[in-house]
Amino acid sequence: MTDPQPAAQPDPALPAPAPADPFRPDPALYGPERRERILRAAVRDGLLDPEDALLAGFVDLDAVAATVDSLHRAFEDAGEVLHTFAAKANSLVPVLRHLRDLGMGCEVASPGEFAQALAAGFAPERIVYDSPAKTRAELRLALELGVAVNIDNWQELARVDEILAERGAAGTRSRIGIRVNPQVGGGSIGAMSTATAHSKFGITLADAGNADRLLAAFRDRPWLTWLHCHVGSQGCPLDLMAEGVAAAVGFARKTNSELGRRQVVGLDIGGGLPVNFDGDEVSPGYPDYVGRLKDRAPALFTGEFRVVTEFGRSLLAKSGFTAAYVEYTKTSGGRPVALTFAGVQVAARTVFAPDSWPLRISAHDGTGAAKHGEPVEQDVAGPACFAGDLVAKARPLPLLEPGDIVVLLDTGAYYTSTPFGYNSLLEPAVHGATVAADGTVRFSVLRRPQTVEDLLARTGG
Ligand SMILES: *Cc1c(COP(=O)(O)O)cnc(C)c1O
Repeated sequence: MTDPQPAAQPDPALPAPAPADPFRPDPALYGPERRERILRAAVRDGLLDPEDALLAGFVDLDAVAATVDSLHRAFEDAGEVLHTFAAKANSLVPVLRHLRDLGMGCEVASPGEFAQALAAGFAPERIVYDSPAKTRAELRLALELGVAVNIDNWQELARVDEILAERGAAGTRSRIGIRVNPQVGGGSIGAMSTATAHSKFGITLADAGNADRLLAAFRDRPWLTWLHCHVGSQGCPLDLMAEGVAAAVGFARKTNSELGRRQVVGLDIGGGLPVNFDGDEVSPGYPDYVGRLKDRAPALFTGEFRVVTEFGRSLLAKSGFTAAYVEYTKTSGGRPVALTFAGVQVAARTVFAPDSWPLRISAHDGTGAAKHGEPVEQDVAGPACFAGDLVAKARPLPLLEPGDIVVLLDTGAYYTSTPFGYNSLLEPAVHGATVAADGTVRFSVLRRPQTVEDLLARTGG
């Protein structure tokens, strides 16, 4: 800016602005100016190009760092806490490495995620292995390396018994826990609700006989020292999540008092903080959840238990966006349709379950500058060959034209990092971005774009 404005005088009629909350990240990191700055730099640098780079994902690494910082601060008085990142939310190795550098651990739930976490350099004791279907080989490796394991069911418990017997005196350094389902009910998205009466996850606490059987399992196994729960993800209210954690904490205390010893030493409380997909505000934030946990499960904050968390979506979603060029536009049944390159391959949940997963979209011209025209209801379609491949239906936006760019907001988790291979659509590049104090944007490669040669090699060509 060459001619600075005189500093505005505060209006005495208005309340003084709230002081910045040290427990919440700077809202400017998640706002439209910053996104536009990154987008324009991406066009300038050729990371988005109407011929060669029609679609790309972006992760704002500074915003991720601020989110991680707010998580650490929120749990500051919980004693010994290990915050792990649920790798399925964004399993790109450079993203995992960034999170490791920020002091996170990693939660994994498949051999692929396990390998990615190790490649990102997480120490085995900072990795947690969850999954309802761990094979013998996976369990053997986890117990060999000292990775924490959460057992999902009685048969898996028997398998771990066998592997530990095989290992004999070698034992294991792994923290081993049992995942319980507190059966507190579901949230607004059934597929994201893990603590329902009939959920496939964990051992149900309320079903006949299970509480006694769990108690006996702990009594007979000195190495079984953790309890795990993950009540749900997007759509679950904070009170429901806190209620589930409180049930697990209650069960841990009951176990310790009935066994007359400190058998359960730690609680893994899972993740699941919902994300606001309606606006730029980071709400709820980690301090909101911690407030509920302090009310309902105060024992987490007295030093009585060690704590592990496993947040995914809330750590990455709002720090990422996906940008695509509009190739053509048309009118269908009187409604404008923009045909873009962002569809089911990068936004599977939104395309298949649009009511549960609506995404905000912003409209930009070919340079990345925001378009300001009169809003017109229009469909924003992807390139795939089925009618439902829409990322927005009848959405009021400035009228899109060929060569414009659409941006799918809040897609840093479970979207572009998690592509769907329909129509052999190629996996787009994902770029990391950082913004220096002088406004300079620097990019790094988080995932190079898949090429036709990669695709052919993978599909037997
Ligand atoms: C998916 C998952 C998480 C992370 O959930 P988010 O909603 O992304 O925070 C944590 N723990 C387990 C066991 C999970 O399956």
